[in-house]
Amino acid sequence: LAVPGVRALSPYQPGKPIEELARELGLNPSEIIKLASNENPLGPSDKAMAAARKALDEMCLYPDGNGFNLKQALCRRYGIEMDQITLGNGSNDVLEVITRCFADADSEVIYSQYAFAVYPLVAQAIGARGISVPARDWGHDLDAMADAVTDRTRLIFVANPNNPTGTVHKSDAIEAFMKRIPEEVLVVLDEAYCEYLTGDEYPDGLDLLERYPNLIVCRTFSKAWGLAALRVGYAISSPAIADILNRVRQPFNVDTVALAAATAVLDDEDYLKRSRDVNEAGLRQLEEGLDRMGLLYIPSAGNFVTVEVGEDAAGIYRSLLNRGVIVRPVAGYGMPQHLRVSVGLASENERFLEALSEAMITAG
Ligand code: PMP
Repeated sequence: LAVPGVRALSPYQPGKPIEELARELGLNPSEIIKLASNENPLGPSDKAMAAARKALDEMCLYPDGNGFNLKQALCRRYGIEMDQITLGNGSNDVLEVITRCFADADSEVIYSQYAFAVYPLVAQAIGARGISVPARDWGHDLDAMADAVTDRTRLIFVANPNNPTGTVHKSDAIEAFMKRIPEEVLVVLDEAYCEYLTGDEYPDGLDLLERYPNLIVCRTFSKAWGLAALRVGYAISSPAIADILNRVRQPFNVDTVALAAATAVLDDEDYLKRSRDVNEAGLRQLEEGLDRMGLLYIPSAGNFVTVEVGEDAAGIYRSLLNRGVIVRPVAGYGMPQHLRVSVGLASENERFLEALSEAMITAG
């Protein structure tokens, strides 16, 4: 009975709970490390935790459907206005609402090969035609993406940095791309990992908003801010676009606990700094370890690295799992020889490197 776009979707494969996996593998749950979902290895910010606990007192009331306090905190931090913000149940929710508002079954939606899996999914779900543009050096080929625009194109997704490749474009490249996109085509700049970028050469999508009213910047609290379980993401756009998005999103799409934790963590500068520092050191540690093993990896600007392990990537994945290390296969992205590993704490990165080295030897 489902409409054709939905019928063609492949089901999301959620991971098993750690306890269940441990039972299957005959391991103790504490022996298992999960480096599969680009989560923050620090654990939650104390400030976010205190605010979340306090917010539970209001469990029997509906959340603030406008997210007033969180929007105020975002405005203070980023110098934007309340009417530019659309809150979502994670940025996945925002990506879906954007697609539903601005594309339909007659539209084309452009994204890059190897780009974040939710883009084809949300496009397909509404019956739009997804245009996957071949990547260049694993990253977005922005020129080819601009060339792919037709009079049916409504939306273009650009992940900067991209997941699962970790590739990133600098400001001048993004600006040159925006200049080529007609005003009536919306560009979604997905900056889920932007907090990990250091250096002035990378774009802050917010700087581009004034010059390009067809731009929507999406961000999340799931990564550097460490709130993946609470599901908070947001879009920043022109007030006109935000007005449309806010008409369509569910009015209570972010719950009270999530709103309180996200508002509090935005003031936790120390937590953000530690997130960045741990990530930078962890990336270096992983890269050095992979270099020692002679393995190729895609240099990453995110909180993960995608490593080329060869034809038996599925076997290596399984072998890592048997050693209690969960990583992410990326065959579904058309990268059957790679595995993606999230940056963990130093001890976790070390365990991953050891397990990988053993798994590679076993695989021969
Ligand atoms: N965009 C990108 C590029 C991502 O990698 C992710 C998370 N894996 C998201 C968006 C969605 O994050 P969330 O829904 O947790 O905000």
